[in-house]
Amino acid sequence: MTARALPAENITLDSLPVTALKRVGSRVAELLAKLGIHTVQDVLFHLPLRYQDRTRVAPIGALRVGDEVSIIVEVQLSEIKLGRRRPLPRILAPTALGHPARRMLLVRVADGSGSMLLRFFHFSAQQQSAFARGARVRCFGEVRSGPGMLEMVHPEYRIIKDAVVQDAPEVDEFLTPVYPATEGVQQNTLRALTQQALDLMREGVLRDELPPQIMAQLRLPSLTEALAYVHRPPPDAPLQMLLEGQHPAQQRLAFEELLAHHLSLRLLRNKTTQQRAPQLHVPGVLMQRLLNALSFTLTGAQQRVLGEIIHDLRRDHPMQRLVQGDVGSGKTVVAACAVLHTVEAGFQAAVMAPTELLAEQHLQNFTAWLTPLGIEVAWLSGKLTGKAWQGVVERLTSGQATVVVGTHALFQEGVTFANLGLIVVDEQHRFGVHQRLALREKGVQYDGGKGRYPHQLIMTATPIPRTLAMTAYADLDSSVIDELPPGRTPVETVVVADTRRADVVERVRNACRAGRQAYWVCTLIEESDVQGRTSVAGGRMPEATEMLQCQTATDTALRLTEALPELRVGLIHGRLKSQEKQQIMATFKAGALDLLVATTVIEVGVDVPNASLMIIENAERLGMAQLHQLRGRVGRGTQSSSCVLMYHAPLSADGRARLAALRETNDGFEIARRDLALRGPGEVLGTRQSGMLQLHIADLVRDQALIPRIEQAAVLLLECYPERVPALIKRWLGDAARYGEV
Ligand code: ADP
Ligand code: MG
Repeated sequence: MTARALPAENITLDSLPVTALKRVGSRVAELLAKLGIHTVQDVLFHLPLRYQDRTRVAPIGALRVGDEVSIIVEVQLSEIKLGRRRPLPRILAPTALGHPARRMLLVRVADGSGSMLLRFFHFSAQQQSAFARGARVRCFGEVRSGPGMLEMVHPEYRIIKDAVVQDAPEVDEFLTPVYPATEGVQQNTLRALTQQALDLMREGVLRDELPPQIMAQLRLPSLTEALAYVHRPPPDAPLQMLLEGQHPAQQRLAFEELLAHHLSLRLLRNKTTQQRAPQLHVPGVLMQRLLNALSFTLTGAQQRVLGEIIHDLRRDHPMQRLVQGDVGSGKTVVAACAVLHTVEAGFQAAVMAPTELLAEQHLQNFTAWLTPLGIEVAWLSGKLTGKAWQGVVERLTSGQATVVVGTHALFQEGVTFANLGLIVVDEQHRFGVHQRLALREKGVQYDGGKGRYPHQLIMTATPIPRTLAMTAYADLDSSVIDELPPGRTPVETVVVADTRRADVVERVRNACRAGRQAYWVCTLIEESDVQGRTSVAGGRMPEATEMLQCQTATDTALRLTEALPELRVGLIHGRLKSQEKQQIMATFKAGALDLLVATTVIEVGVDVPNASLMIIENAERLGMAQLHQLRGRVGRGTQSSSCVLMYHAPLSADGRARLAALRETNDGFEIARRDLALRGPGEVLGTRQSGMLQLHIADLVRDQALIPRIEQAAVLLLECYPERVPALIKRWLGDAARYGEV
């Protein structure tokens, strides 16, 4: 099929609307828009998910279960049978006579090398009669094992006229691409469209934006070669390599895609360096007073990272720094130092945490550290009501309050600051770049109209693997606290089935008898969460789920109180008032409770050094990052600590791998790497829904080896070919590219 003539010379494919292609009217165009396809260029960058091989015909005798193949066969017998399928649920059971849902058409076919079965659950009388004995059929489908012989269920098929079979059987010229589709846009349509787009591309209107220096170094195909290849691989293409995304043509595209993401964030960062921020030039007297008052000295890593932060704060453009540090590495005190530096310069600082409980913990720490220095710490949470809320907001607006700790409420409508100099965001790796920007944009309004942006410090305990950092966080500078305070002992982790619950209870008894304290964490996940992945990580959870969680924790606490009458058992969950929660945490911290039964509300930030045993129920249902976070609540003191991950059998392969990783390592970076490999970036980032970082072809785990060259290429492009950058970004990020323009 050839495409319509180009409307004019020199029109590039990115400015040619998809309606320029045959078969695309306004209705199809609308559907294509859902796939992010607006232009002919977008069609070219809509890449196959996988391939089918219809370029050859396989003999039945050589088939293996799982093969997706073409066969050419002769019908031996076709009959209708009543299926022995499981009875349907009553609501789906057919009410009409004849139970049509249970009738099956079985067609026995052979090709000289063997015979097999075609099975159809839906068929018309016409179809049935076409499978007459002796008819020749070409089929394509997946080979499955049936009761007596191999079979294909609902294969694609075509009855062949005798004449054709006499000649060479007709096969496809290329491997068949399978595209991401959407309702109303069939594979056939997508194949026809990509064919037209490829024809247009060959007329030379798609620019290769990679300059010769990069191409020479890469030794990969050109853009047009690569696109032609991945859309229409030749019959001799290495299918396995293609399916794994390792073919040079795919690598060429993956390289360019990762480069485009990296560039868009770099542009964002360049923009930041053009923005103004208050220059905080002070000697650091307040900070020094805090450091003198602490019972410990900062680790080398804390000092280094603090130095990097202070360096940023002294400059006149906004800091955008991500501090990564494993659970317990001491990020809070570093943040407190940054806050004091800001306050000393006469500016306000806001500390935001994602949950009430964590925000409350920060409030306690900051109050304990800052009050002796004569600095009052204000508190703002969504739970504050009328007058209290108004009072805090007024003090922030007037500048009376210099430091405020709180939840997202800090950046709600109606909250303004007199002169906000620093925003600290804790445990925020779940934020995508959009949210980071929104926060910063809001920050600029709180500046008394001077158009200055506040500095921003983002702290996360979930380390971000380098591939991810480069594509999702390259707009931030990054510091790593890669050292734990001295005297910590690694947490020993064991994985046990919940059939051994009684042993686990004994273990708690023994630990508490020996004067130690323990957490018992209950998890409960929404039923829709079939994959066993938590959707309650941090943030808000639906009301009903929260209620169920609390119910489970309450029941567990009751049972444990019965089983362990000599222990003092406490209970904490998300539905308690913050004062109650604080009260319970304080009691536990003071040693007046032995065992604290909790929901995952204690995931982040809670700090009780004497607690050295943690039990996590249904651990297989939580993500690795969350388990690591939870486990980080123990191992904070000097005695050796342990964590018992209890699971409910059977474990999925994925669940087994996750728990094993937790058992094998305490290194948050290693866990994050494995998490990325197991779950993919969308899950790790927690932004799958928001559609961020949807990669067409690149794979952050598979393509790690490309990273150094991508960074080099980005520098070269920005320095020598800046005019090519926007086109590259637009091509790969499409609609999402707008965040590069803020
Ligand atoms: P995280 O990085 O997980 O947020 P925290 O800031 O909560 O860690 O610190 C964990 C605990 O370690 C806190 O009790 C904190 O006071 C303590 N701590 C922080 N830095 C040091 C240090 N350099 N030496 C000893 N203890 C420290
Ligand atoms: Mg913390």
